[in-house]
Amino acid sequence: MSEEQFKNVISHAKEYGFVFQSSEIYDGLSAVYDYGQNGVELKKNIREYWWKSMVQLHDNIVGVDAAIFMDPKVWKASGHVDGFSDPMIDNKDSKKRYRADVLIEDYQEKYRVKNQKEITKAKKRFGDSFDEAQFVATNPNIARNNAKIAEIDQRLSDGLESGELHKVKELIEDLGIACPVSGSKNWTDVRQFNLMYSTQMSATDGESQIYLRPETAQGIFVNYLNIQKTGRMKLPFGIAQTGKAFRNEIVARQFIMRMKEFEQMEMQFFVQPGTEMKWYDYWKAHRLKWHQNLGIDSEKYRYHDHVKLAHYANAAVDIEYDFPFGFKEVEGIHSRTDFDLKQHEAFTGKKLRYFDNESNESYVPYVVETSIGLDRMFLVLMSNALQNEDLGEGKSRTVLRLPAALAPYQCAILPVVKKDGLPELSQKIMNTLKLDFNCYYEEKDSIGKRYRRQDAIGTPICITVDHESLEDGAVTIRFRDSMEQKRVAIDELEGIISKEVSIKALLQGLVN
Ligand code: ATP
Repeated sequence: MSEEQFKNVISHAKEYGFVFQSSEIYDGLSAVYDYGQNGVELKKNIREYWWKSMVQLHDNIVGVDAAIFMDPKVWKASGHVDGFSDPMIDNKDSKKRYRADVLIEDYQEKYRVKNQKEITKAKKRFGDSFDEAQFVATNPNIARNNAKIAEIDQRLSDGLESGELHKVKELIEDLGIACPVSGSKNWTDVRQFNLMYSTQMSATDGESQIYLRPETAQGIFVNYLNIQKTGRMKLPFGIAQTGKAFRNEIVARQFIMRMKEFEQMEMQFFVQPGTEMKWYDYWKAHRLKWHQNLGIDSEKYRYHDHVKLAHYANAAVDIEYDFPFGFKEVEGIHSRTDFDLKQHEAFTGKKLRYFDNESNESYVPYVVETSIGLDRMFLVLMSNALQNEDLGEGKSRTVLRLPAALAPYQCAILPVVKKDGLPELSQKIMNTLKLDFNCYYEEKDSIGKRYRRQDAIGTPICITVDHESLEDGAVTIRFRDSMEQKRVAIDELEGIISKEVSIKALLQGLVN
């Protein structure tokens, strides 16, 4: 997908009531977005798909809904007060601020693109006999590019881990990275900026500084014992949570990709120490399956194993999606060891242990985390679904091929005319179907125009009620993707729609 297509996604999202800029009538608040009438439905459906696949389909995973405000000591213990910052650099000519590591990673991406081109060229040349793994292992150009990527990785992590940020600036200068806006290489020094927002909370003994949570995970950790005890949970078990998180992202770009207020869907899976790699592999595979189950082309996803690990992790991988601006993280899977629970033990003096009946010992469990951004997933689905389709004879249509179960509306009910009893019959059909599905009702404009509008918001099924329906008790249903139409009895509608668009049909793909 091109940059051009990405611009189309943004304007489509606005034009059809999916995403608006926050406070738009006040000229908009940067990097903060509101979801409109269709966006809120799509977002809710993604959340539901996640929740059901994690909580409902796993009998050892339960949910929690922790508050956004937490005791500020939580963020000291978790390491966020001291370490949750990004290395930033400003271009003196454009006055634009960038994340230094992102500038460098974008530069590295050029080498990955070169490698991909080599592979595509060789694939064409060798045809069926092409062995990609062998080619990648032996091609000298690819080896050179990989060595360059590794060398840059090494220099970047040296600079970041030692805190010697001048090394990161030197790397930017050595690579000749220029500001994408001004084109100049006139950079400031690299500095760390903490990403947490804070506000004041009044108490009887004065005011204290309190943070807006930058991740939902800590709400799970501090409730670990409450849930383990009251739910009588046995290891391994998980706690899932969806909710808002806040980060003062200085460089907020790319629409809802990087926001200051966003929603996360996180699950912490508590396991016996020593078994964490087994569970890490399980969740790594299972989470990719969740993505692929949505029918998105598997070439659009890849794993990106972390070379430099966060202080709390002993393994980490990102699931990346091929956005128009390159492969970027949608979800992270992290083996977080016992770091968080141990820190909370140390800061509170309370034991956060698990008593293992089988081994007769008590220990702090290890944790494997899956963490996905709901807004980023929304962007994946919108970018993947939006298509301009040529229908021949100079005609075209814009269609949003969302997974049927996640579309804002599962069906639209359209009387061909708004008289002769057709609206009444349509309403009768609507009254039955709306108990199970989100149904759109519309009687204005020609049927053709109404179909186009439903295509544009991704409604998988349109039901057209005409004069014959009054006599034969049948209606025409039209499918979004194939545009195929067929006549079915009104009594059959519920069964057909269920089969095509229910979340059950989608979840089925995960249990096989
Ligand atoms: P990035 O490197 O892109 O900043 P991250 O590694 O900081 O992401 P995590 O802390 O692992 O992200 O958060 C888990 C998930 O939350 C990410 O995979 C992403 O989908 C989402 N996420 C993180 N920051 C943002 C943001 N500012 N806006 C929207 N989604 C976000």
